[in-house]
Amino acid sequence: MSTKKSDLVIVYHRQPYEEVEENGVIVRRENKSPNGIVPTLKSFFGHVDQGSWIAWKEAEDPARPDFERVVEISDNYGDYRVARLPLSADQVRSFYHVTSKEALWPVLHAFRERYNYDPVDWPTFREVNFAFAQAAAQEASDDATVWVHDYNLWLVPQYLRQMKPNVKIGFFHHTPFPGPDLFNVLPWRKEIIGSLLKCDVVGFHIPRFAQNFAAVCESLYDIESVERSRLELDDIRLRPALSELKTPDALVYEGRRVRIVATPVGIDVNFVEECINAAQTADLEKRIETELTGKRLLLSVSRTDYTKGGAELLYAYERLLERRPELHGEIRLMFVSVAANNGMAVYEQVQQELETIAGRINARFAKFDWQPVQLLSNPIPFKQLAAFYRKADICWITPLADGLNLVAKEFVAARTDGDGVLVLSEFAGVATELPHAVLCNPFSNGSMDHTIDQALDMEENERRERMIAMRNVTSGHTIANWAEDLRAAIA
Ligand code: UDP
Repeated sequence: MSTKKSDLVIVYHRQPYEEVEENGVIVRRENKSPNGIVPTLKSFFGHVDQGSWIAWKEAEDPARPDFERVVEISDNYGDYRVARLPLSADQVRSFYHVTSKEALWPVLHAFRERYNYDPVDWPTFREVNFAFAQAAAQEASDDATVWVHDYNLWLVPQYLRQMKPNVKIGFFHHTPFPGPDLFNVLPWRKEIIGSLLKCDVVGFHIPRFAQNFAAVCESLYDIESVERSRLELDDIRLRPALSELKTPDALVYEGRRVRIVATPVGIDVNFVEECINAAQTADLEKRIETELTGKRLLLSVSRTDYTKGGAELLYAYERLLERRPELHGEIRLMFVSVAANNGMAVYEQVQQELETIAGRINARFAKFDWQPVQLLSNPIPFKQLAAFYRKADICWITPLADGLNLVAKEFVAARTDGDGVLVLSEFAGVATELPHAVLCNPFSNGSMDHTIDQALDMEENERRERMIAMRNVTSGHTIANWAEDLRAAIA
């Protein structure tokens, strides 16, 4: 194994592959979801001599893990090392399930009432972040670039800066970032922001989250200046709730300049098109068409999470069927809501709620030959999902809060036929990029009702015009552009 220190270190809590057991042996496979963040981050390794990835892996006794701590990987993205940080089941529960998911996640997504302070064990959160920083420091050369991803590793920059003063540190947020009224609910706010101020670059999907970050910094620290630039003004009528007129480019604190970058993750458009051209996708499209027998397909795809607004969407569908009986037997909703496999009670409650509403809709409206809603809880492999994107008349994506939302972009990228309507929440980061979607406000029944009617009744020429505009966006800012923006920001 190479002992050379790495020029690029990626710190992300998950390993960059799936480990599965085959005939008693653990084998590593590419992750199933192609547009997930993992392949994108791995593509960064193509630009350096030696790269490393830091992730955690559960160990019964972290002092004596029953696995190799560092493994060498060779895959389509090149050769790189993966350093696995052994964490006990208790550490994982405390750091990830409790502190990250019960305390930090609700605040980031503006669900103040779900924020749960009591079970948080902050010393364990610190300890785990410190261990990640140590593992990164062991892998990194003295002037390496270290990219840390996501809020559960917020404290890594401050520890790493002490261990390796000359490395370049970038931190990208994949979630929303709230303003000070909300963020400062966190009792650890000063420590978190103090750590982020040790970075060279702090990144977000969209300018609103970057503006919120700058405002939080100014509320907690004596920031010397914030540099901002104006954004290109598009039609003011198309500006969704999360849009901004300016974006912060940098702030100066204690004489150090911290760059701020707002660039949304893009998708691998070529990969989506390869999937579409695969024979299996074409076969599945034919099967879907036969199965639909002329009914229109409404498609909703998300993770089971209260932030995704699944219940609100199902209520809107129920109202639609009450309001427009002429649609009975004519439309069908395929509602894919996939549980993250973490056994958390809060997600089980969401799942139960979805099952209850979907069950009631079917009980109220189904006929012998018509099931109004189909609830799918198992993940659909992307190649199959692509066929459903292509056959859907409407893709209905209405999160209450979302950092970006890749499903919306995938739907658009899959529509090489130029048809299909996207109904999209204004509170998904991607809405700032896709103002030509039918934008809705999922907090308003009126808006949910009006926009689904608008989508169902839209003429073909309008559907096509909107789709062209949206497809220009997904092909104009791809995953490669996002990676390039991050590299340029830290160069
Ligand atoms: N996805 C999938 N199969 C499913 C449901 C989702 O492959 O059955 C993928 C989807 O294609 C997308 C990702 O999961 O790439 C979800 O990303 P998104 O940004 O929409 O939401 P997140 O879960 O990251 O909040």
